[in-house]
Amino acid sequence: MKRTGSVSARPPAMGVLIHYHEIALKGKNRGFFLRQIEANLLLTTRDLDCGPLRRPAGRLFLEMREETSWESLRQRLSWIFGIANFAPAFVMAPNLELLTKRIEEEVSGRSFRSFRVAARRAFKTFPQTSQEINEIIGARVQRICGASVDLTNPDLTIYIELLPHEAFLYFEKISGPGGLPVGTGGTVACLLSGGIDSPVAAYRMMKRGCRVVFVHFHSQPFADRTSQEKAIELVRLLTRYQFASCLYLVPFGEIQQEVVSHVTGRLRVVVYRRLMLRIAEQIAQKEGAKALVTGESLGQVSSQTIENIATIEQASTLPILRPLIGMDKDEITQQGQQIGSYDVSITPDQDCCSMFLSRQVATHTTPREVELAERPLDLERLVAQACSAAHSLELSFPA
Ligand code: ATP
Ligand code: MG
Repeated sequence: MKRTGSVSARPPAMGVLIHYHEIALKGKNRGFFLRQIEANLLLTTRDLDCGPLRRPAGRLFLEMREETSWESLRQRLSWIFGIANFAPAFVMAPNLELLTKRIEEEVSGRSFRSFRVAARRAFKTFPQTSQEINEIIGARVQRICGASVDLTNPDLTIYIELLPHEAFLYFEKISGPGGLPVGTGGTVACLLSGGIDSPVAAYRMMKRGCRVVFVHFHSQPFADRTSQEKAIELVRLLTRYQFASCLYLVPFGEIQQEVVSHVTGRLRVVVYRRLMLRIAEQIAQKEGAKALVTGESLGQVSSQTIENIATIEQASTLPILRPLIGMDKDEITQQGQQIGSYDVSITPDQDCCSMFLSRQVATHTTPREVELAERPLDLERLVAQACSAAHSLELSFPA
């Protein structure tokens, strides 16, 4: 980032001014949410040569140094849930003359035809009102640059935030991802296939503040490792948002073989899904996760009719969260493209669910008929076997 000379004895420090999102609304829990967003900011920037991080009234300010890469920092901040917006900002004494000089220096190096000044006083003790500040500074800028004032669609906005002991000045406000800081919403376990939907479902839960543990079922040795490699790549991508992830890789092929030999074709998918939930529930309990998450979307495939969803969920005692239930494929795809998971999801793999499948799939099952179909299976043994054969992987970001 460009640094310019100082106008006062103390050069204005540069850093990022961060405004947080819904945390501001959380009343008595505000301290808890703030500590979490601060911890997340420190984690994600730990290799970026910046800091310290401080809390000026209702905001966060992260100092930057000469060595800090603004591009990297900007990208990392766009992955921190809880941030409403952020801006590279100068910080200085809350003095109108100092501010005006600083602004004159800054704007004289820029080309713009129209501008507006957007001053905000966090405390009303400042001698001028926000409108008076806008007018005083606006007149000076006009005199130097000859640009016109445009309050609706200016080329340049000069943002000023005045606190009792310091002022922030910036020219660019960048949108954050919103949501709640990861770590404030408890832990959930997401059933992650290599498909398009489940990584988006995990993302949406993280955005609501959850830490996500991942569970992937594969059919090795009956299939190759492609679905596992995709799951690892997807988790690597999603770890940007939560800094540390645990992925369980669970062999499911032998279980599917047993299902094939005992369960009629039309009910197999529902029985597989129920077994996946039972296994995921054991893993969730071990990891302290309070709910399971799936990428189900109503009516998208035959296992996702309302009847089958109801039959499947009876296999779990944990709540099942389906953040995509009301979204259509285009919306999910768009979100997957936005977060970068889509390109990984569409690479071909040998998915366990496409193996051992029957051509006929029942779309309107009842729990009763599926329980009957499961009778020949030793469910407890199958679940225990899968849990003990599961491998776990730890991923972290920044690596
Ligand atoms: P996705 O794109 O997430 O694979 P889908 O539309 O293909 O979803 P299904 O194959 O019916 O839907 O799977 C529904 C949900 O079941 C998935 O979103 C995921 O949460 C879970 N699931 C399916 N297959 C697996 C798997 N191999 N490992 C882990 N979870 C799975
Ligand atoms: Mg799938």
